[in-house]
Amino acid sequence: MPDKKHDGSKEAKLADYPKGFDMLQNPLLNKGTAFTQKERDLLCLQGLLPPRVLTMEDQIARILESIRRKPTNLGKYITLNALHDRNRALFYRVLRDHLEEMMPIVYTPTVGQACQEFSHIFRKARGVYIGPEHKGRMAEVLRNWPHKDIRVIVVTDGERILGLGDLGVDGMGIPIGKLSLYIACAGIHPSQCLPVTIDAGTNNEKLLEDPMYLGTKAHRIRDERYDEIIEEFVAAVGEVFDHTLIQFEDFGNRNAFRLLEKYRNRVCCFNDDIQGTAAVAVAGLLSSLRMTGAKLKDQKVLFLGAGEAGTGIGDLIVSAMVSEGMDEKEAREHCWFVDSRGLVVKSRTDLACHKTPYAQECQYVEDFASAVELFKPTAIIGVSGQARTFTRPILEAMAAYNERPVVFALSNPTAKAECTAEEAYAWTGGRAIFASGSPFAPVTFEGKTFVPGQGNNVYIFPGIGLGVVACEARHVTDEMFLASAKMLAQMASDGDYAVGRLYPPLTEILKISTAIAVEVAEICYRRGLAQKSRPGDLRGHIESLVYKPEYLDFESVE
Ligand code: NAD
Repeated sequence: MPDKKHDGSKEAKLADYPKGFDMLQNPLLNKGTAFTQKERDLLCLQGLLPPRVLTMEDQIARILESIRRKPTNLGKYITLNALHDRNRALFYRVLRDHLEEMMPIVYTPTVGQACQEFSHIFRKARGVYIGPEHKGRMAEVLRNWPHKDIRVIVVTDGERILGLGDLGVDGMGIPIGKLSLYIACAGIHPSQCLPVTIDAGTNNEKLLEDPMYLGTKAHRIRDERYDEIIEEFVAAVGEVFDHTLIQFEDFGNRNAFRLLEKYRNRVCCFNDDIQGTAAVAVAGLLSSLRMTGAKLKDQKVLFLGAGEAGTGIGDLIVSAMVSEGMDEKEAREHCWFVDSRGLVVKSRTDLACHKTPYAQECQYVEDFASAVELFKPTAIIGVSGQARTFTRPILEAMAAYNERPVVFALSNPTAKAECTAEEAYAWTGGRAIFASGSPFAPVTFEGKTFVPGQGNNVYIFPGIGLGVVACEARHVTDEMFLASAKMLAQMASDGDYAVGRLYPPLTEILKISTAIAVEVAEICYRRGLAQKSRPGDLRGHIESLVYKPEYLDFESVE
């Protein structure tokens, strides 16, 4: 905000604000057609805008019309991005107030397509790109960012974007999209969010050959230089900004687990693919138990895919079972995994270390259908990135073993889902308790309409971020994710269950994020992890931090 001394006149009070065309180019201040006539006089805008003054509501109606008129989701994405670049308040208002409609555009599934096309649809740079060429001066690079009070960074190296693989710097769409959701769903202030992409090369040959590709045309750095880049980046964040949460996002699993282990007790960070996914999936599982009255201790969960999402979910299920009194070893026997080479069993010699705690003492089978037959799970969770792998015989078997089989097809984007909502309901005689990673439209089966729940990480990470920001947490712990999962599960209502939905509707996201933030901050205070002293009214304090996408009234600027 301007702090220049002034003589008390309105003009002097506005002295530090940009004027005329510069004001219209400043997305943090621009109100476009909503500038009043008086503001147009004060800010030298007369003649630079069409004559009619619109309200924000009029503007929202107009932007919705232009988005809805676009025939493709990518077209809608580009229109929304253009709005972001010219009018931040309006963008977040549209996103916040029309979240269910806009979420599939700013995030999965459209963001996947936007990343695949990133270098081709690129219009305006957003966020920070860091590569080996910045060695020794990463702090200087971060200082180039115009905002200084950064509280949340989402960083990717683009190696495993959604279920789409290595997209190199084209993965920047993901940190951008995730931060939009931090802002719209938890009210973190836009100027406190920074998207970062580490350009460590790409092994995607198509990109390396693409003349439009905007990243460095080199294969991925696989030696110690990679760790040096990350190390310097993490240190530079600590040097340049205070109290910043780093969310690691869409790293390949050769790095994701390692980096999380290396930094989780050093700085304030988490990995959303591992821990955020785990919380939303465990919330779904706990919610399914509330729906049916079944017990957690009786659940047998079979995963297709033993990567970041799968073993992250497994670990949190184990924590949940242990928190209910089960021994850890026994809890791990309730979680079986099938990866690309078959059932994860003790006799295998090819297991990466994140899988070994789940290697079962049992016969090896090669495929998922055989594992279903052997284990007779109560729940199957698809996190393999392999489309249509929950086949009809598998779903029929689940329906034969269980009154209410739990089926989570979490792979993203929609085209990668292990089964569709329709298949899940149809092949289990309408008895499946289904959730997906990307949204599916409601399904009517034998006269009953089901509204499939989306196990979207957005239910969790914005609330975690808000809680961390509110108390300036030193670290993010697994306890916070389990508490978030329990809180989210509790917030689903009988009305949600009546239509088969495990999660509350996204329209309640701000309430959910606030409730999770309170849980997170309470844990921080209990565990001595908060750097800020506890306010008397914690919930009130958290609510007061929430950014409201509203226009500044320049007529009453003091
Ligand atoms: P990852 O690369 O870490 O793991 C993928 C796993 O799938 C690996 O264990 C691999 O061995 C296994 N796999 C590959 N092909 C297989 C096959 N044919 N049969 C059996 N297993 C196979 O990836 P990840 O981070 O775990 O993500 C996996 C998927 O989950 C992605 O599609 C991602 O979009 C999705 N995901 C969804 C959510 C969500 O819905 N909330 C969150 C995170 C990830």
